Amino acid sequence: MFNTITTLALRAMSTFYTPQKPIVFSGAGSTRKLADLMIRGGQKRPLLVADSFLIKNGMLDELIAFMESEGCSVTIFDGIIPNPTFAVVEAGLNASRQNNCDAVFVVGGGSAIDAAKVMASASTSKKSLAQLTGFLKVDKPLLPFYAVPTTSGTGSEVTTVAVVSDTETGKKKFFIDPKYIPIATALDTDLLKSLPAPMTAATGMDALTHAIEAYTSRGRLADTDRDAAMAIKLLFEFLPVAFEKGDDLHAREMVALGSFLAGCSFTKAGLGYVHAISHQISAHYDTPHGLANAVILPRVLRFNKPVCASRFASLERMMSEDQSKASDAVLADKFIARVDALAEAVNIPFRLSDLQPSDFGSIAKDALSEARSSYAVPRVMNRNDIYRILDSACSGERDVSFA
Ligand code: NAD
Repeated sequence: MFNTITTLALRAMSTFYTPQKPIVFSGAGSTRKLADLMIRGGQKRPLLVADSFLIKNGMLDELIAFMESEGCSVTIFDGIIPNPTFAVVEAGLNASRQNNCDAVFVVGGGSAIDAAKVMASASTSKKSLAQLTGFLKVDKPLLPFYAVPTTSGTGSEVTTVAVVSDTETGKKKFFIDPKYIPIATALDTDLLKSLPAPMTAATGMDALTHAIEAYTSRGRLADTDRDAAMAIKLLFEFLPVAFEKGDDLHAREMVALGSFLAGCSFTKAGLGYVHAISHQISAHYDTPHGLANAVILPRVLRFNKPVCASRFASLERMMSEDQSKASDAVLADKFIARVDALAEAVNIPFRLSDLQPSDFGSIAKDALSEARSSYAVPRVMNRNDIYRILDSACSGERDVSFA
């Protein structure tokens, strides 16, 4: 019943608030083109939100010099932490208000982009951060918002979503509104090539999870299927290359495009239990988002197989260009094995060592609640199913079976 309501709500949101895609610049040096666009648009007092490693390593020196040479007064905020908190957003918001900033330009991973989204909306609103959480709570247009992802995973540069951790409740809070989609983005390989191999792997598997959950969501549409399928193809082909050879700029760009397209698909079609479970795991143990998803994904694929065999089979046909008459069930198994092989190729562990059985109860409760209220899942889980998944992620058993 709830799942049907969620499916209808997602469809209504996609129909009445059709999310626009941002303008996309791509390739080495594209961040400067994005800055140029902002400046031509008349914004001269940007809040530059950046991951601190970018500032410390001088990776944005040229960008800042370019903005200043064009007459900008740049306020730098680099207090971003992974899984950002309300305190981080408040600090950036204060910097924006004190300096009367007229735009937000973010360069960083999903954590930086999400925090910057909320800074951009709170800067123009009288609402508190708590009042801005939830669906369609943005009452004023954001400060003009530009985003440069330095990871290829979350798709935040194209999504309607921002995620901020509430340290008081130990939960992740969602801000969901089409206004959070940036005006424009740059998939800049100069900034992506420094991402270490383990982060490349985990964030790339996050993007793959987005695409698969969107492709199997009951909220999917023709365009989300197209974007998700393209994302899956790109990620299977290029993630292992970017993992092995971080300075292969073509592979980096294709993975970034895969992540962008996965973002386009899930921001309309929605996600599923991989995210519902992994969000709680990250909230409990601060596990990197991509890693939590990557470990949970194979288990949820096995759970969904009885109702998703034809969807998995169509992805397998696309990947293998297999025109044989093999049954959907056989091809679905091959697709799941293909996901396992990709995870192995990029060294994703089978288990999450932080998981504590004493936390399973609250993780399961919150995961069921998140899925019920937010996702049009293809097959509904119960508490025991989530326990099975958490047990197997604890022990490292991947071939988990369900009653
Ligand atoms: P992240 O932004 O937390 O970054 C992880 C680490 O990698 C950080 O220490 C960061 O400084 C570092 N890093 C980033 N880019 C780098 C680079 N090029 N070179 C070297 N180091 C680099 O990781 P993430 O996976 O991109 O983002 C996770 C966050 O995004 C979570 O809070 C998650 O809930 C959220 N999320 C948001 C959406 C959305 O649609 N808005 C979707 C999925 C996840």
